[in-house]
Amino acid sequence: MLFRNPPPLPAAPDQTASSPLGRLLLLIILLSALLAPKGEAADTLIYFGQGGQQTVSGSLHVLENGSGLYLIDVGSFVGGDGPNHPWPEEIPVARIRALFITHIHADHIGRLPLLLHQGYRGPIYLSRVSYELARVTLPANLHLIDLGPERFYYSRNNAGRKRIPVYLEGYDFAERTVKPENRVYFTGHRHRLATQGYYLARPQRQKLETELLARLDEQAIISDPDQPFRVDEFKVRFLTTPHMAGSVMVELQFRGLRILFAGDTGANGSPLLPDNPGFPEPIDLLFLEGTYGRDREFDLAAARTNFRRELAARLAEGYRVVIPAFALDRSQQIIQEIGRAVADGELPPDQVIRVCSPTARELLHRYADFVGREEFAPYFRPEVSKSQFLPPGYLPDCSSNDPDNPLGLQHGEIGVMTSGMADYASARQALLDYLEDPKTLFYFVSYQSPASLGGRLTAGPKPPAELRIGAYRRQVKAKILQTSGFSGHASPREMIEIFTAARPRRIYLVHLDPRNATSLTSRYQRAFQAEIIIPRRNERHQLHP
Ligand SMILES: [Zn+2]
Repeated sequence: MLFRNPPPLPAAPDQTASSPLGRLLLLIILLSALLAPKGEAADTLIYFGQGGQQTVSGSLHVLENGSGLYLIDVGSFVGGDGPNHPWPEEIPVARIRALFITHIHADHIGRLPLLLHQGYRGPIYLSRVSYELARVTLPANLHLIDLGPERFYYSRNNAGRKRIPVYLEGYDFAERTVKPENRVYFTGHRHRLATQGYYLARPQRQKLETELLARLDEQAIISDPDQPFRVDEFKVRFLTTPHMAGSVMVELQFRGLRILFAGDTGANGSPLLPDNPGFPEPIDLLFLEGTYGRDREFDLAAARTNFRRELAARLAEGYRVVIPAFALDRSQQIIQEIGRAVADGELPPDQVIRVCSPTARELLHRYADFVGREEFAPYFRPEVSKSQFLPPGYLPDCSSNDPDNPLGLQHGEIGVMTSGMADYASARQALLDYLEDPKTLFYFVSYQSPASLGGRLTAGPKPPAELRIGAYRRQVKAKILQTSGFSGHASPREMIEIFTAARPRRIYLVHLDPRNATSLTSRYQRAFQAEIIIPRRNERHQLHP
């Protein structure tokens, strides 16, 4: 499976014009050629983007030449960064020749279901680990995707229930499920169903998941790091970067021009992922992220050492430890760090670690499974072991019959909980249950947006005395800590170290927090002696000739 060439472009129609019908056909062809979206001359290469231009989220970069369009990432916007629906009309789906995915964070792959929904049937190039992880995370998030207004129906018999199972028009789930005469139709948005008291019925979800996985299997082309491949006129190569498991940079060569989309670039020294490449050959054009504008006070290794020490000290004092973490990658990296602490004797061998998210648990087992398999070797450090992900005290269970402690997390135990900013799922429940307990430690391990629950707890030098959680209020008696030891993004100083050998002559700053634009421009101009460009959304930049 998974090794195919891009689909051939439709063949040019026969242009013989001897008959009146032939002449009419010729006229139609000429007219449609005039009206068709303008293509580029064969040696011209244009860049434009539809996400990640002066925003951190929504990464969607396009290279255009005479053959068509080549996409690097197809991410979702977050917050007010941009619209996730409709599909941008500047990117006609029929002209897309290939899609390259740097990694599977939602802000890099979240609009893939929309692109497939729009009829894209071309190749999706991604790393082996990205492919395996996407098979778990894409189906798990299908109900959160914005595909625009869709027609749903539910059974009249369920009207008035607190949560009503719904089905999509066009899917007939045997008439016994919802008889046609009992169906109540309405138009809605899939990602808003939950807030309106609906949910996708289980058979409907399964059907959508199966369809999506079949698409992915059909269109995915696995590309391992450092294995060049050809896509039309491009010579392409993936290079690993320690941002998250499976994350890669995409290098494209076009007529002697070497372009690197660095994607999200991690700092060297991760205990899980190999370091960035060395760039023995120069890069002409570098598309670089500008998520962070300032250097870190501690390097990652020192911050992780502190994390382990703090954890061990509090657990020894009988604290219960809650670690809110994103289900994808961050949870697994946290558990690996705890697993290493157990192996090194910093934590007791039977230290209980509960993982309170089904998706995080499933991914944890995938990570453990990758380790030691030869085809996954290029993606992980050789010293990573299975037992780091599944230490002896790991418990896949997070519930109890105690009405005062539904999560069941006891003092002396660690619970890794979704979500990373504690806004929903078990992490939010933990705030409700444990925030007033002085013997609980909440350890935040990622960036916290100021409006999130985690953001409100970690914003000041001291946590607030009280926290509002939806309709509830809780006094903040628990201990609150935060670490930057798990950051997946290199700081500007680290970026300079990573890319100095690449000697880029022009840098396009994308995935950019606009507040960093001025400082990063002057810093990188000095460090790289390069021209710095900050593209706007949909602004066209000629890269070649
Ligand atoms: Zn990312």
